[in-house]
Amino acid sequence: MTVPPCRFSIAESDAPIEMLPRDLSHWQQGNCGVDYVHRFDSGCAGPELVVQALTHGNEICGANALLWLLENQVRPIKGALTLIFANVGAYQTFDPQRPFASRCLDEDMNRIWLPSRLHSPDTHETHRAVELLPYIENADSVLDLHSTTFAVAPMLIYPQTSGNTDFADRLQFPFPHLLYDPGNYHQGILISEHQRHATEGVSLVAECGQHFAKSTSEQALAVTLRFIAQHDMLASAVDVPAWGYAADDLAGHYRIDRVLNAQTEHFRFTESVSGFEQYNKGELIATDDQELIAAPFDNCTLIMPARVPVAGEEVVTLAERL
Ligand SMILES: [Zn+2]
Repeated sequence: MTVPPCRFSIAESDAPIEMLPRDLSHWQQGNCGVDYVHRFDSGCAGPELVVQALTHGNEICGANALLWLLENQVRPIKGALTLIFANVGAYQTFDPQRPFASRCLDEDMNRIWLPSRLHSPDTHETHRAVELLPYIENADSVLDLHSTTFAVAPMLIYPQTSGNTDFADRLQFPFPHLLYDPGNYHQGILISEHQRHATEGVSLVAECGQHFAKSTSEQALAVTLRFIAQHDMLASAVDVPAWGYAADDLAGHYRIDRVLNAQTEHFRFTESVSGFEQYNKGELIATDDQELIAAPFDNCTLIMPARVPVAGEEVVTLAERL
């Protein structure tokens, strides 16, 4: 199958770059036969956890959180903890002049977790996903660490199941929670594929803040340690740091309604947006050539708008603030 080149991220950035990617070569040789995968088994019965970083190669906060765990020799006190640096090939192409371009090599690695794609891998990302899939399928719970183009509130994103919502509420995550029905959201997301297999665990994405902000890496570590702790797998000697960001009035629950694609190269938002702008039903959000795009419901919230709309590609997610 022919896939479009990874065009999403070629725009140059005006975001300050406070953090640069670190050299991961010391951690290339994992301990279970797959590069950049480290699994620590406590030897005691308990959950099988996976924390994945670098699903998107330019989202360096997750790599920094996993490096902290590895360098500080954090080990689960029960069950097993697997740490995955996913798209290291993309991460290694980082260029501070084009910091969004290392999101992927061939295609978005968070749209390919589909049996049809992984049965016959044909890109860098699908080949890597095939290597990682056994760990995802074997996991009770998965935390996938991400960051955002714009400096907006951190958020948790998860399929709307009672297990996920209970866990996320107990986590006391003081930022937006975005709940989705897999039928109404992007296809091929890692946590959706995990959710298909998981019977008791949880499947969460943590968006930890702006890609290159120092506080985003602090947030990634804070959410990762809380995720492990809430499975009762974190040694009491490990201090759990404060959240990397201050909570604000955007905290609360949102229902993801749909993803909009730009139909033409003339897609334009009606105002400068960065995410979490809210509209009442009928208010104009954007124009797409001749088409007017109005908010389809009240409390309609823009989530993760694209920096540069590209015809035929995702441009924004609409969510209802609950
Ligand atoms: Zn991401």
